[in-house]
Amino acid sequence: MDFSDYKGIYVVAEVRGGNVEKVTGELLGEARKLAASTGDPVEAVLIGSGIREKASELIAWGADIVYVIDSPLLAHYDGKAYEKVLGGLLKEKKPSAILFAATPYGRDLAPRIASAVVCGVTADVTELSVDEKTGLIVWSRPAMGGNIMADIISPLYRPQVGTVRPGTFDLPEADASREGRIVDVPADLTEVDLGTILKEIIPAPKEENPIEEARIIVAGGRGIHSEEEWAMLHELADLLGGSVGASRPICELGWEPHSSQIGQTGKSVAPHIYFGFGISGAMQHMCGVKADIVIAVNRDKKAPIMEMADYAVAADLKEFLPAFIAKVKELRDR
Ligand SMILES: Cc1cc2nc3c(=O)[nH]c(=O)nc-3n(C[C@H](O)[C@H](O)[C@H](O)COP(=O)(O)OP(=O)(O)OC[C@H]3O[C@@H](n4cnc5c(N)ncnc54)[C@H](O)[C@@H]3O)c2cc1C
Repeated sequence: MDFSDYKGIYVVAEVRGGNVEKVTGELLGEARKLAASTGDPVEAVLIGSGIREKASELIAWGADIVYVIDSPLLAHYDGKAYEKVLGGLLKEKKPSAILFAATPYGRDLAPRIASAVVCGVTADVTELSVDEKTGLIVWSRPAMGGNIMADIISPLYRPQVGTVRPGTFDLPEADASREGRIVDVPADLTEVDLGTILKEIIPAPKEENPIEEARIIVAGGRGIHSEEEWAMLHELADLLGGSVGASRPICELGWEPHSSQIGQTGKSVAPHIYFGFGISGAMQHMCGVKADIVIAVNRDKKAPIMEMADYAVAADLKEFLPAFIAKVKELRDR
């Protein structure tokens, strides 16, 4: 098949509460790296109501062109209406690739678009590269319960589409001096195009210290044997100005909410320092950890996390945690 008229690496911006989410910057930064290999322009689509002024943020993060679809009917995400306006634009533009965030919004919209333009979707991507020989994008993601990484390509269909996990890639430095083009795209919509009528928004209780924003994460696993011991992690996180994260079994026990779970079925995190206390280092957990420094404490020297850690401490947490907290307090008081 001849795909020569499919051009551009597109990023569909994630807008919440009238603001562009950080993950959009992460996707644009990564799209720029891909474009450096493929020679494509980087283009972004911004959908919402009263959001035109936000287009410059996307240019600062790396977009060459931003298509703005602005309508009061697009004020809140509506799969049916968003599919109509975005699908229409993409059918006309014929992108080579489209990146969505692997968020509830992106996970709903990406397959709708793939169905509209007839192509596949690679979900929950954690690595991206370009195959030198074919120029195809290689979408990599954990597979088989997280034990292997699967490289997925799309040689037979265009566009190449994927959802990318937030926090997987670095946020590029925004460059306000970058130049780009803003293109207004009329939204041909009436109320009949909406799938749902939104009557009220009840905000979820605000998460305190969300792990995806933390510089320091104090994470614990099944090596912590009681809720009393678990409370020590909160004490330590408070002392260090960090957040508490957990492995899945801990969230299943109800000691932490699901929003604190790190890993394949939890969140991806990118702190400066990640402490893993009593965590074995299963692939399904570690695939969500991208830290500058990993510090592991485990009584089993052979636990997989000890190999992955920058600093590995073989110790029993019953003794280590109280002593470590006392030391941190002593240093703080000094
Ligand atoms: C499809 C799928 C998705 C999954 N998604 C996720 C996910 O998103 N996140 C996630 O975390 N898991 C996930 N899991 C589960 C994952 O496979 C592991 O089972 C889990 O991460 C293990 O948690 P853990 O490290 O706390 O427990 P364990 O593997 O039991 O490890 C406990 C560790 O604590 C150490 N230890 C015990 N006592 C002490 C002590 N007193 N002092 C010091 N060290 C001690 C042990 O040596 C051991 O290494 C998933 C699994 C599947 C199949």
